[in-house]
Amino acid sequence: MLRHPAIRLVILATALSCLALAGFAAWFIWSARQAQIHQTEAATSNVARLVGAQVDAAMKTAGMALTDMAERAKHDGTGPGSRERMRSHLAELARGTPELYGLFLYGADGEWVATSLGRHVPGNNADRAYFQYHRTHTDRGIHVAAPVKSRSTGIWIIPVSRGVYADDGTFLGVALVTLRLNFFERIYDELNIGRTGTVLLMLSDGTVVYRRPFDEKVIGSDLSGGAIYNELRRRSIGSTFLVAKVDKVERLYSYRRLHDFPFLVAVGQTKEELLGNWKRSSMLVGVAVLLISAMLAAFATKLIRRIAVQDRLDRKLRMYSEELEKHNVGLRQLADTDKLTQLANRRRFDEVLEAELKRAQRGGTPLSLIIMDLDYFKQFNDRYGHLAGDTCLQRAASVLSAQVSRAGDLAARYGGEEFAIIVPNTGEEGAIAVAERIRAGLQALRIPHQPSPARVVTASLGVATLYPGTGTGTGTGTGTGTATGTATAVELIERADRHLYDAKQAGRNQVRGGGGDAAAHGT
Ligand code: GH3
Ligand code: MG
Ligand code: MG
Repeated sequence: MLRHPAIRLVILATALSCLALAGFAAWFIWSARQAQIHQTEAATSNVARLVGAQVDAAMKTAGMALTDMAERAKHDGTGPGSRERMRSHLAELARGTPELYGLFLYGADGEWVATSLGRHVPGNNADRAYFQYHRTHTDRGIHVAAPVKSRSTGIWIIPVSRGVYADDGTFLGVALVTLRLNFFERIYDELNIGRTGTVLLMLSDGTVVYRRPFDEKVIGSDLSGGAIYNELRRRSIGSTFLVAKVDKVERLYSYRRLHDFPFLVAVGQTKEELLGNWKRSSMLVGVAVLLISAMLAAFATKLIRRIAVQDRLDRKLRMYSEELEKHNVGLRQLADTDKLTQLANRRRFDEVLEAELKRAQRGGTPLSLIIMDLDYFKQFNDRYGHLAGDTCLQRAASVLSAQVSRAGDLAARYGGEEFAIIVPNTGEEGAIAVAERIRAGLQALRIPHQPSPARVVTASLGVATLYPGTGTGTGTGTGTGTATGTATAVELIERADRHLYDAKQAGRNQVRGGGGDAAAHGT
């Protein structure tokens, strides 16, 4: 069945269609995924830039306040006389900058000199890490410490400090501003980064400053061993899929390192959320492709079955028609052939004569007819029996077959022991020659025939020729033929018969034709 070209074509076309469909769907799904990732990447890196810019601005504000405080402390000193002025200055600074929670000035001993809070601040800060740092370092840069919970208010704050030094480098104390963590929180909560999006703000040593969603336990923890931190160590800006150390969830992170301050920012969205819509639409596309492919396959199967059935029917039909054709050829042969002699029969003779007459008239070519009758055949039968007579007829027929071999010639059994030979394209002379060859050929068989004067079987032959245009044979003397086909056939047979009669009259075993002068005589 697979060898049928139409079926192979159907299978190939279906397979190719399904393949093309699947390929297109795969390409579509893949590019949709890429587009979704790019879109999320753009969104998260925008948020990261925004967060960075905001931290940067807050740090610059803090830095300016610290510089201002350090300059004032250096000039005015930290003695009791300058304390009130310092305090009101700090209070004014704090009012103008909502992101700063408090401003503090500490003396070299760790006791506070002035604060913006306008109330007594208990305790000594000499034990704080930043204080230790400034006492032992002399750089004028600002120092950002890990977030701490305020001893006085319980609020999460980020201490930002710088040392106050005299011109000769003597340590005079520490200027400190604290940034409220919830100042960042308020802003981050307003950012549109999806339901599961996170914002992570770290110090450059990996200490967590803030993380959305907010969890007090995470603040201040060390993420320097995490994937994001590692990524940030290699590149200062970028986007990538990472598994967070905090919750072990895979996210697409956009991260950046701040240029001027020791902060790292990362904004992430979970893979699950960002690819959720994509997954749903991909599933729909996949199901659609499967359905269409199944439909195509079903259609192809139906088509193949139909082709196979059609093919079987065609083959049967061909077989039957071939058999019928063979049968018809056999029947036609049977209908055209004389059973005894295997020559053409009378029916066929009539048909061919009509056709040849028409052809001769159309083409203007001569047409001859020979009629042969065995001599004294009644006596042959009487003497040798009817069966021997039949055999004799068969042998006479074989002489005809042998002598009438030109294409277009036709030898037929005209009836009883009479034969007729149609010789197209042949004039009288040629036809008489053919007749003579037949006569001689039969005699040469020397079939014994005692009652005959010749002692062997012989035949008499009459020849008539039609020359189209003249309407009659030449030199018939009695010719009164008409131009019509049927009349001419009858006339031609009659003329040949008359010549046969002449041959019989003249003593048999001879050929007569034309005017009688062209006759050839046997012995
Ligand atoms: P003639 O020389 O004048 O032709 O004499 P004839 O005896 O042949 O006379 P005619 O032609 O009248 O005789 C025909 C005879 O041919 C009659 C019949 O006995 C014989 N005959 C006709 N058809 C057959 C046949 O199919 N088989 C046999 N064995 N004989 C046949
Ligand atoms: Mg006869
Ligand atoms: Mg006869």
